[in-house]
Amino acid sequence: MTAGSITGGSVTVVGGGIIGLCSAFHLAEAGLRVTVVERGTVGGGASRGNAGEICPDLVAPLPAPGVIGPALRGLPRPDSALYVRPGLDVELARFLLRFARNTTRRRHAAGTRALAALARDTFTLFDELAAAGADGDADASGFLFAHASPESARAALREHRALGAPVDGGLLQGADLAAAEPALGPAARAGYVIREQRSIDPSLFVDRLAATVRARGVEIVEGARVTAVTEDGTRVRVRTVVGDLDADHAVIAAGIWSRELCRQLGVGIGVVAGKGYSFSVGADALPRRVVHLGDARVVFTPMGKRLRVAGTMEFGSGAEEFHARRVAAIVAAARGYLPDADWAGRQDEWVGARVMTPDGLPLIGPVPGRHRILLASGHNMLGLMLAPATGRLVAGLVTGTADPVVAAPLAPGRLARRVRPR
Ligand SMILES: Cc1cc2nc3c(=O)[nH]c(=O)nc-3n(C[C@H](O)[C@H](O)[C@H](O)COP(=O)(O)OP(=O)(O)OC[C@H]3O[C@@H](n4cnc5c(N)ncnc54)[C@H](O)[C@@H]3O)c2cc1C
Repeated sequence: MTAGSITGGSVTVVGGGIIGLCSAFHLAEAGLRVTVVERGTVGGGASRGNAGEICPDLVAPLPAPGVIGPALRGLPRPDSALYVRPGLDVELARFLLRFARNTTRRRHAAGTRALAALARDTFTLFDELAAAGADGDADASGFLFAHASPESARAALREHRALGAPVDGGLLQGADLAAAEPALGPAARAGYVIREQRSIDPSLFVDRLAATVRARGVEIVEGARVTAVTEDGTRVRVRTVVGDLDADHAVIAAGIWSRELCRQLGVGIGVVAGKGYSFSVGADALPRRVVHLGDARVVFTPMGKRLRVAGTMEFGSGAEEFHARRVAAIVAAARGYLPDADWAGRQDEWVGARVMTPDGLPLIGPVPGRHRILLASGHNMLGLMLAPATGRLVAGLVTGTADPVVAAPLAPGRLARRVRPR
C-alpha cells in the first residue's frame, strides 16, 4: 500500500461490502481517486449471504404502527422470527425504546417517504452497474407473498396496496395459488403477486462489482483492518494494520463494525446488530420466483440451481456468533411451504449482521463534528437494494452535488450522541 502520499480529490473507503464498493464506484465515476480498505476479503460481512431482494416498491421502515405487540408476544420463544437473547444490554434497551418511539403513524409515514426518495432510481442504478460489468444475474419475475391464512394474506395485501406496490391481480387461493406457484406446499393457504421486483445473486454481484471498480482505477486493499480514522481539519488519516492512508475524505462503510470506528471518534450512532441466517437447499421443483412467507418471516430466493432460504432477526449476541438453533427454527417454520425440498441436505449455512437503526433509516452523511469523514451504514434489511443509491449519495455529498431532499432525513446527526472514545 502507498501510505500517506495521496493529495487532492482522494477518498479512502473503509469496508469492502456492497455499500463500500458501490460508494467506490460512484466516487470513481465522479473523478475522485479511491482506495477501499477491507479487513478481510470483499463481501466478508453481510453482503454475500443475504436474500438478494431488490424491491424499491416495497420499502418502509421497520418501526411501524402495531409492530410492537406481535413482536413482543413472539419474543420468549427461541423459534420466533424475532428473537432477543436473554440478558438485555443497555445499548439494546436504549435501541428498543427509541424504536418504540418511531412506531407512530407520522414518523412511519415520514420514514417511508425518505426511503422511497433514496430508492427512487434503484432499478436504473442497478442497470447502469450491470452495463458497467457488475451484474448479479438479475431476475425480474416479481415476488409471491405466501401466507398461512387468507386473513393474514388479506391484511398484508392491504398494506402493500396502501404503499402503492404494483400488485398483480388480487388474493390467490386454492388452484389459483397452486397455478401461480406449483412448488408450494399445503402450509401456503393464500397469497398474492407483486410485479417488477427483482432478485440477484449477491455473491456474484460483489465479485463483479469489485472487478468493475478495480477496472476503473480503484485500489482495493484486502487484509487491511482499519484501527482508527482521524481528521485534522483539512485531511483525513485512515490507520490500518498494514500502514496509514491520507486522503481528502474518508467513508466509513464497515457494516456493523462502523459502530466501533465512530465510537473511537467519540460518537455513538445508536445501532445494534440484527442478525439473520441463510442456507441453500435443492429441490426437484424450485419456486419460479422469490417467495415471501409472510407469517413465517422467511424468504425463498432461487439462485441458479438451488434455493436460498433466509430469515430471522436475532438481537443481543455477538455480530459473528452462529447459532445452529436459529437455522433449525427457519427450517421448522418453512418446510411446510416447500415439502419437496431437501431440507436435511442443506448447505452454505451463513450468518450476517444487519445494521439496525431505531428509526429504520440508514445513516448517510458526515459523522457529527467531522466534515471530511462520512458514514454510510445502518441499512437495516435493505442494504443490498439501497447500495447503488447510497453510493451515488455518498459521491454527491463529497462533491457537493447531493440532493438535499434525499440527504437531509438520513444525516447521522439525528441518532448520534457524544460518547467516551474507546
Ligand atoms: C439474512 C439476511 C438477508 C438479507 N436480505 C437482504 C435483501 O434481500 N435485500 C437487501 O437489500 N438487503 C438484505 N439484507 C441486508 C444486507 O445484506 C446488508 O444491509 C448489507 O450487506 C450491508 O452492507 P455493508 O456493506 O454496509 O456491510 P457489510 O456487508 O457487513 O460490509 C462491511 C465490510 O466492512 C469490513 N470491515 C469491518 N470492519 C472493518 C475495519 N475495521 N477495517 C476494514 N474493514 C472492515 C467487513 O469485513 C465487511 O466486508 C439481508 C441481511 C441478512 C443478514
